[in-house]
Amino acid sequence: MAEITDWKARYRDALRDMEHRERGWRDFELALRRLIGRLCRVGTGQSPSIDAALARISHQMQLEGSGPAEIEALSKTLLEAVTANDCPRNRWEASCNAAATLFERLSAGPMPDPTMQALASEVAVADSDEALAKLLMRAAEFARAQAGKLAKEREAAAAMLTRMTQRLEDIATFLDATKADWKNSQDAALGLDQKVMSEVDGLSKAAMAASDLAPLQVVIATRLESIASHVQDFRDKQGQLYQEQMERAEKMTLRVAELENRAQDLSRSLEQERALARLDVVTGVPNRIAFEERLREELARWKRLRTPISMLIWDIDRFKTINDTYGHRTGDRVLREVASCFANRLRTNDFVARIGGEEFCTLLIGTNAEAALRVANDLREAVANLNLQYHGKPLKVTVSCGITSLRDSDLKDDHAIFERADSALYRAKEAGRNMCIAA
Ligand code: GH3
Ligand code: MG
Ligand code: MG
Repeated sequence: MAEITDWKARYRDALRDMEHRERGWRDFELALRRLIGRLCRVGTGQSPSIDAALARISHQMQLEGSGPAEIEALSKTLLEAVTANDCPRNRWEASCNAAATLFERLSAGPMPDPTMQALASEVAVADSDEALAKLLMRAAEFARAQAGKLAKEREAAAAMLTRMTQRLEDIATFLDATKADWKNSQDAALGLDQKVMSEVDGLSKAAMAASDLAPLQVVIATRLESIASHVQDFRDKQGQLYQEQMERAEKMTLRVAELENRAQDLSRSLEQERALARLDVVTGVPNRIAFEERLREELARWKRLRTPISMLIWDIDRFKTINDTYGHRTGDRVLREVASCFANRLRTNDFVARIGGEEFCTLLIGTNAEAALRVANDLREAVANLNLQYHGKPLKVTVSCGITSLRDSDLKDDHAIFERADSALYRAKEAGRNMCIAA
């Protein structure tokens, strides 16, 4: 009897122990499922097929009771996606795409360079590591030549500055000489004055002391001759001074004209640089710096005149997928097509800029909120109907837009209009994309 009780107790103990161990394993399994879910999130972003496999695993991990068979099948799909992504062909295409993006970036912009454009088209037909390496070497050579050109331009600018400084020093010397001439001329006039006065004084004394007319006549004649010679002397010196000054002034006029020409050249090239610095190199439309400048100007004008102004913020839908599916070169081509679609359709007074990766901003001058919504929808449809292609197959591109117009409350806050348009854009994305929402 005692033996039976003993077995029962042992059996209960064993059951309790197993229950305890099972709970431990369940906790462990739960922790593992969570860990896998987190790892899936960390691993996302490599490629659309890997993302899809990870999303399926992550979803499976959240289901109770998924067995090893399902997990094994999903792991196989993931392994296949990873292998496909890692295969040499993909790596080769990724290298070619990276090189092509680099060449296109360098050749894009308002002053495209034919060397880079040639490299960009040659990389499309490169078929071996050697060919790609040669193209990269040529790009490196080109970059070195460009750096050399820039260094020469810098040297030329420095030499021109030295010449300008020299001219300015010449002008300062001329002004000093002119000042000295005036001083000499004043001294000479004073000297003449004293000499004439002393002759006149001598004359008057001789006249007082004279008792005979004949010697007095001689004295007067001598004194007058002396006065005439002083005056002649003075006039000769003044004439010489005048001549010297005219020559110096003529030289200075030439130098000042030369200086003005150089200053004009300099300001023209600075103006060009300034304009280039305000253009986006990928799309050729104004960039964010230009946008911020223009917005400041328009806000100031609006505060004075209160003519309506609307702002449209655009964001290309699922652009990351476009890049991932077709490569960055095609992504850049899409950016250019969208930018020119906007730029070609806007009125001359309106303004469009690329303000970020795949974001654009449009300012509609003199357009109220109601009309702005119509314009925005026209532009949105124009982008959706762009009829772009990738290797002969249609490439669909859509954009979402947030719209707002300047209102009284914006008088106190220059940033409010942008924030309003941006949050309307966010709502357009949330609501399903390819739409325009006004705030
Ligand atoms: P959503 O519809 O929500 O806007 O999705 P999305 O994919 O467009 O948005 P997300 O912000 O996730 O991705 C933007 C992508 O734009 C990521 C980035 O690699 C790409 N991008 C940014 N600048 C450039 C560029 O100059 N050229 C190219 N090709 N891609 C760019
Ligand atoms: Mg964006
Ligand atoms: Mg986007």
